[in-house]
Amino acid sequence: MEAQSKIKKGKKKHKTEVPAPTPKKDKKKTIKDLTKSSKKIEGLFTMYQDTITGSLQMVLSENQINKEFIYFIQTVDAPGDLGFAGRGIYGKSKVFKIQKYFNKIEFITQNTSFYFDESKAIANAKEANISNGNMASLKVEAHDKKDGLYLIKADGLFLKEVFSQIKPPSRPGGSPTAFKLGNLDKEKTKIIAINNYPKNIDLVIEYIYSKPSTINGGSNAVVDGRNVSIKVNHSLIEMPDNDYEIKLDDPRVGFFTTQVDDKTSMSSAPYRDLVHRWHLKKKDPNTAISEPVTPITWWMENTTPKEIRPIIKKAGEQWNIAFEKAGFKNAIVIKQQPDDAEWDAGDIRYNVLRWTSSPQTRFGGYGPSFVNPRTGQILGADIMIEYAVLAGSLRGEKLFEKAALNTYYEEMTEFINTDNHDIYCAAGQMAQLDNMFGTIANTVFDEDGIEKSKMVNQFLHFLILHEMGHTLGLNHNMKSSQLHSISDINNEDITSEIGLMGSVMDYPAINYNNDRDNQGQYWTMRPGPYDIWAIQFGYQPMSEIETKALLSKSTQPELVFGNDADDMRSPGKAIDPLVNVNDLTNDAIQYAINRINLSNEVAKEVLAKYKVQEKGNSYQLLGNSYFVLTGQQAAAANTISRYIGGIYIDRGMVGQKGATKPYTPVSLQDQKRAMTALGKYVFSSNSFSAPKELYNYLAPQRRGFNLRSKNEDPKIHDRVLGIQKSVLMHLLHPNTLQRITDSGLYGNKYTLSAFMTDLNNAIFKSDIYSNVNSFRQNLQLEYTNMLIDMVTGKQTSKFTHNSKSMALYNLKAIRAMAAPSGNIASRAHKQHLRTLIDNAVKEIK
Ligand SMILES: [Zn+2]
Repeated sequence: MEAQSKIKKGKKKHKTEVPAPTPKKDKKKTIKDLTKSSKKIEGLFTMYQDTITGSLQMVLSENQINKEFIYFIQTVDAPGDLGFAGRGIYGKSKVFKIQKYFNKIEFITQNTSFYFDESKAIANAKEANISNGNMASLKVEAHDKKDGLYLIKADGLFLKEVFSQIKPPSRPGGSPTAFKLGNLDKEKTKIIAINNYPKNIDLVIEYIYSKPSTINGGSNAVVDGRNVSIKVNHSLIEMPDNDYEIKLDDPRVGFFTTQVDDKTSMSSAPYRDLVHRWHLKKKDPNTAISEPVTPITWWMENTTPKEIRPIIKKAGEQWNIAFEKAGFKNAIVIKQQPDDAEWDAGDIRYNVLRWTSSPQTRFGGYGPSFVNPRTGQILGADIMIEYAVLAGSLRGEKLFEKAALNTYYEEMTEFINTDNHDIYCAAGQMAQLDNMFGTIANTVFDEDGIEKSKMVNQFLHFLILHEMGHTLGLNHNMKSSQLHSISDINNEDITSEIGLMGSVMDYPAINYNNDRDNQGQYWTMRPGPYDIWAIQFGYQPMSEIETKALLSKSTQPELVFGNDADDMRSPGKAIDPLVNVNDLTNDAIQYAINRINLSNEVAKEVLAKYKVQEKGNSYQLLGNSYFVLTGQQAAAANTISRYIGGIYIDRGMVGQKGATKPYTPVSLQDQKRAMTALGKYVFSSNSFSAPKELYNYLAPQRRGFNLRSKNEDPKIHDRVLGIQKSVLMHLLHPNTLQRITDSGLYGNKYTLSAFMTDLNNAIFKSDIYSNVNSFRQNLQLEYTNMLIDMVTGKQTSKFTHNSKSMALYNLKAIRAMAAPSGNIASRAHKQHLRTLIDNAVKEIK
């Protein structure tokens, strides 16, 4: 008020008092004055961009003060050197409030993690000890009292890392030569685009990070490591004002959620976690099946390869099977983005199935969504697919070599530097590796073109189903691939009706039948029974009683659920062997044995086939095939190993029909079966005996000087030992050993001493009294060193006393077995073992 009248008085003074004295310094300018040389961009927040400098100003209206908005960030483009960054990667959405403090406008992040029942007195303390985040406090440059408008300078809001941290944090203990960004360069950072709409504004900003010199200039994706560009899209979104009803999560179904604690509840599990789902409402609520008022509409980006567009459309629309069970017809609609579309695929108002062919691929497919954190309503989603998943060749051999091993997953987790970890998906990469196995096997078994394209089409169909499942709110269900028996899995009469798995949200092994005359589906082609049930839970309008009745079915075998937190992909992680990646059928041990045998069979024939098929080409494909085939064996070996010390989990509620005890140890018979299989297929002297003649041909194609960094000779012993070690890392993991002892108290019959003796025997007994071949020497030494580490190593305190006693007992047994015998190499090996053990025993305190 004061300011406005001063401006008016000032103006009058100019007119009346002539000549004017020197202009008053505190003279207030109007919005009009300050935006004279700017272009006006109208929308949710009116923006003014200076036509000479590009500088940005923002107008806030009085009715936007004290209101909540949603903020969302998405990467437009970033080099893969930064980890899990790149086109279409989503950040997390958050709620912020705009407030006025004297002559300043504040942008304050709101805490959405807690719920208080307002009818309870304790709710009066709801603000206690909560930290909100004041992201920015900006001076009001001009105030239009008549229209209730405030003008602020907006460069500081969007050209700095105000709303989000853009530069990935540097990890303590990281390599000093790792790729690192310089500092944010204010001069070079700029606005690329401003898209202002009535309900949201998108600002695309190119952040430049500069430094004068660099040790590591990055990959080929980075032209100049001293000046690195990251483009992001900041979206400010009006808080939806609609009749969306929140849906609370249940532990028996796997939706993405926003976690909320009920701070006014007396429950032992006071959770009010918000299910992430679309706002789907029946057009006609009185009919059993109705079209939704607003369907979930998808656009295939115009970058989508033309020949696969029909497959993608068909796969995505398969989800309508599930929605029909939930009472919705045509809930999913898939359209084609025209080549001359006036909107960009990054526009958050459109859900787009996007394709990229990135310099480095961090995922095969990825299906993120973003929500209103206040309600869990999904506001937008995309699906990103990397073109490389279709390519027969594997780009990035390094990733590929690791693909079979457990370290792969850990490294993939390392890549993630977004705060949106829960939506990370490796289905595309995993399935791609399995599909490559299928391709090699199809070549060896002379399958015709129809069979080959059937497999690839099914792979793509599955991948789209999976990624779209994520965008509907579903997270992974790694327990669902054990639905069918080995005999039913290739019966298409069954699988075409139900699917190959309970859920498309799993990472299964490819269903490749050793019996080539009875090949069923390679990949699942429709939402499974679990998916349909989960969509009913999430989307079907129903009463509380109906919801309870639906959830009470969770004990049915086709509706089992366990997500990434429960799966056993990494050594020592989780406890239930049914919740795993790379497994298939309800006899996953036998299925894995079949796969090891099949890989061996294929390895025997692959050279002869490629000599014909690859005539005139280099041997690159053969080398890749060796890694794919041994990778299949590694994955199978890991699947088998998880049964030892495994505990089946039942998440049924107290008194629920069909529910068993929450924890039931794997039977002695199955644990012994797993141990025997590992002895025969993983640890024996002829395990991984790829045909010897293959080794002379494992040559990568020469390119420039690329082979200089490491010798190109095939490191066969390393490959085999790596696979064996990944299994041992699980079996001798402190968690596994501790669980074997603890679970003896509640049903486990495979004692720690029996298991560790069996393992010791599997690794030594067949050859320690005679000649030991080079693979077994490697294995025996590696294993012995692991036992020594248990009793004297840095990690020794992590192991239970019982397991350390058994480790020592086994070391002494090895010492006794490793008496001098056999050829010179075997004698040297045994002397090595004895020396290691003798020295280690001296160190034991
Ligand atoms: Zn996934």
